[in-house]
Amino acid sequence: MLVQHCKSKIIGSKPKQTIQNPRLPLKREGRRGGGDVGEKVSKLAIQILLLEGSSRLGGWLHSCKTEDGSVHELGTRSIRVTGLVGKNTLDMVDTLNLETSLLPVTSAHPAVSNRFLYAEGKIHKLPASLSSLFRRSEPLSKSLAVLLAREPFRRKVPVDDESLHSFFERRFGLEFATYLVDAFCRGIFAGKSSELSIKSCFPHLFEIEQKYGSLILGSLLSKREGDSSVGNSPLVKRATAERWLSWSLKAGLQELPDRLGSYLTEKDVQISTDTPCRRIEFKDKVARIHTKDKVLETERLFCSLPSTNLAPLLAPEHSDLAKSLSEIPSATVAVVNLEFEGSVLPLQGFGYLVPSCEPSNVLGVVFDSCTFPEHDTPVRETTRMTCMMGGEWFEELFGDPEVVCKDKLLLTALESIKAHLNIHEKPIYSNVSVHRDCIPQYTIGHSKRLDSIHDYIQNHKLPLTLLGSSYHGVSVNDCIFNARKAVLEQRR
Ligand SMILES: Cc1cc2nc3c(=O)[nH]c(=O)nc-3n(C[C@H](O)[C@H](O)[C@H](O)COP(=O)(O)OP(=O)(O)OC[C@H]3O[C@@H](n4cnc5c(N)ncnc54)[C@H](O)[C@@H]3O)c2cc1C
Repeated sequence: MLVQHCKSKIIGSKPKQTIQNPRLPLKREGRRGGGDVGEKVSKLAIQILLLEGSSRLGGWLHSCKTEDGSVHELGTRSIRVTGLVGKNTLDMVDTLNLETSLLPVTSAHPAVSNRFLYAEGKIHKLPASLSSLFRRSEPLSKSLAVLLAREPFRRKVPVDDESLHSFFERRFGLEFATYLVDAFCRGIFAGKSSELSIKSCFPHLFEIEQKYGSLILGSLLSKREGDSSVGNSPLVKRATAERWLSWSLKAGLQELPDRLGSYLTEKDVQISTDTPCRRIEFKDKVARIHTKDKVLETERLFCSLPSTNLAPLLAPEHSDLAKSLSEIPSATVAVVNLEFEGSVLPLQGFGYLVPSCEPSNVLGVVFDSCTFPEHDTPVRETTRMTCMMGGEWFEELFGDPEVVCKDKLLLTALESIKAHLNIHEKPIYSNVSVHRDCIPQYTIGHSKRLDSIHDYIQNHKLPLTLLGSSYHGVSVNDCIFNARKAVLEQRR
C-alpha cells in the first residue's frame, strides 16, 4: 500500500493523498515521453508513503540464498522481454542501474529450444524450430504445421467469452487443446484451461479471431498498439540486438524490489513494512486507511493488494464492491525447491509441464540450474530444480492448504521426479512453500466482473485505483505496466 501526502495543492486540493503498492516504472529525466516519475512527484511536492503488510517488499518476487550460496526462487523465476510490457520493465531495470546484475536468457539458450511435456508416461520435446514443426511430435498425432495450416479455414464463432480449451480446440483441434493448451495453463496460471477465459487471459488472440476470423491471418495483418514512450532505454536496444527472451538477476529476482525500494527511498518515498492495512473507508472523496496505530487520509488510493485481500477491508457500505472483488478466484500453489549433489538431470532445458489428463501430482518441473546456472553454488557442482504442485487441483490432491503436511508435499515432489526423470538421489537441500491464493484465475466472465468493479468505483466516485495481478494480467510485466499506465492517467 502506498500513501501519498500532498504538501502543496498542485495535484489535489486537499492536503493529503494516498496510494497503495504500485511498482512504478521510473524513467531517467530528459528521455522521450518520460521523465522520472519519482523526481516529478517530488517536484510536485507530494509525499509518498508505501505501506506493506509483510516484513519485506516484493510479494511473490522472493529469492532465498542457501549457506553454500545457491539462489532459489520461492515464487517468480524469470521475467519475459517480449512486447511492450517486457520493454517497459527493462526500461525500469535500466533506470535502477541493475544492468550489471542481469542474467539474460537469449534465443540460443538451451532453456529456450528445449521445452518438454510429460504425457502418456514419457517426456516429449516440444517443437522449437521451423523444421520440427513439420515433424509429428508426440503426443500429437499430427505435425504442428498441419494444425497451423488448417487454422485459417476453421470457422469463427461470434462469442462474448469462451474457455481457453474451447477456443483452441476450435482453432487447432482437440489434441492441441488437451495437451499443449492445458499444460500451458497449468504452467502459467496453475489453472484449468476449461475454466480460464480467452478474452481475459489472451485478449489480443480473442480480438484477432473476432476481427480476422483466423489467428494466423490476424497475427500477420494486425498491428499491436505501440507506445513511443516505452522501450527507449539502451537496455531495450541491447536486449533486442542480443535477442533476449527473458532474464533474472544475479541475487535472484528479489533484487528488483530491493533496488526499487532503495531507489524510492532516495526519492523521498517513505516505505513502511510490517504495516498491514486493516480497513479502508471512503468519505467526502477521501480514502481513510486504517493501520494498527494510524488512520491515513488521501485523495487517491492506488491499491495493489490481491482482490481477495482487499475485499474484506472495505467498509460495509461497499459490500457490493467487496462481493465483486471476492468473486475473482485464485489458485494455491505448492513450490518445492530442490537441490541435488552433482549433475542429475537426464535432459537439459527449461523443464517440463504435465497436462491434467496425465495422472500426476505435479503441474510442472523447472530445471533452474539449466536456465540460470549462475544461481548454482560456487562451492561444488549441484543441480537445482523446482516442482510446482496443486493449483486449481490443490484441495483434491492434498486437502486443506492451511493444514497440509509439508513433508507429504516434499515426498510427492520427489516421487514425481523419480518417476518422470529417474532421479533417485536424496536432495541436499529442499524447501516447501505453500502459496495461498497466489495466482488469480481469470475465469470466463472475468471481464464482466471487472466492468462491474470499475463501474462501481466510477459511479460512487471512489478515489481508488486498483492495480496488481487480480485484474488485467498476472505476469510481473503486466503488473508493472498497468501500474505505470494508471499513475500516468492519474497525473493527466
Ligand atoms: C509460484 C509463482 C510463480 C510465478 N512465476 C512467474 C514468472 O516466472 N514470471 C512472471 O512474470 N510472473 C510469475 N508469477 C506471477 C507474478 O509473480 C505475480 O502475479 C505478481 O508478482 C503479482 O504481483 P502483485 O503486486 O499484484 O501481488 P503480490 O506479489 O501478491 O503483492 C501483494 C503485496 O501486498 C501485500 N499485502 C497483502 N495484504 C496486505 C494488507 N492488508 N496491507 C498491506 N499490504 C498487504 C503482500 O504482503 C504483498 O507484498 C508467478 C507467481 C507465483 C505465485
